[in-house]
Amino acid sequence: MRIDILTIFPEIIEGALKASLLGKAIEEGVMEVSVTDIREFATDRHRTVDDAPYGGGAGMVMKCGPLFAAIESLKPRNSLERVVLLSPQGRRLDQTVVRELASVPDFVLICGRYEGVDDRVRTGLCTDEISVGDYVLSGGELPALVIVEAVSRMLPGVIGNWESVTTDSFYGGVFGPPQFTRPPEFRGVSAPEVLLSGNHAAIRRWRRKEALRATRERRPELLSACTEEDRTLLAELDREEAEREREIES
Ligand code: SAM
Repeated sequence: MRIDILTIFPEIIEGALKASLLGKAIEEGVMEVSVTDIREFATDRHRTVDDAPYGGGAGMVMKCGPLFAAIESLKPRNSLERVVLLSPQGRRLDQTVVRELASVPDFVLICGRYEGVDDRVRTGLCTDEISVGDYVLSGGELPALVIVEAVSRMLPGVIGNWESVTTDSFYGGVFGPPQFTRPPEFRGVSAPEVLLSGNHAAIRRWRRKEALRATRERRPELLSACTEEDRTLLAELDREEAEREREIES
């Protein structure tokens, strides 16, 4: 897997690529992430990458020239089959998009700044436009890091214990279960007994049930693809809730 990131602020990205699991994955060659400074492709001595918008208005716009030259310089190291523009107007990032990107051999991430990039970059160079949410950041660097880290978790060899990926929120279609660690009691609140029981079947069932409970409470729309076991557990949750309500009433 190779990811090329184009930015005018390489320093925002480079530090994060050295730390933690991502840093280790890159160091061990599980994935290659290369950062290109768009300013290297400016043609004037001030290394200008932006200009005033046609038609007037606030702010500056990133120019086509340096961006086209920067992308073209990536050939043949990158196939350029997936060129992603980071933009608040793009397809919303979720685990499906992450899996899709993790399944291709390489892709490019373009980080915008200022008022955004000249629209001819989007129409002439990009295959995808991705947003990390309905809010506006000052640049695409943090969204790029979000994508790189989420994609890295899908690659074999990045997370030592694959089970921790498969029990993550969204991997199995629902939230991950709540987690507890030592001490067994903290300020009067105990960890659930079943987790200390050593009964692996009971622990697995409890975790799935709690994951379903949290998902149903906070994101019920995610429950559309439930298994037979999930439906049994959800019915059990219904019965427990009805019983609690009866107890409160009496
Ligand atoms: N004027 C643009 C608009 O209204 O859509 C916003 C430009 S924003 C200040 C500058 C750059 O930050 C964008 O070109 C994009 O690369 C990045 N950016 C900001 N918010 C983002 C988001 N939610 N998702 C992905 N990229 C974002």
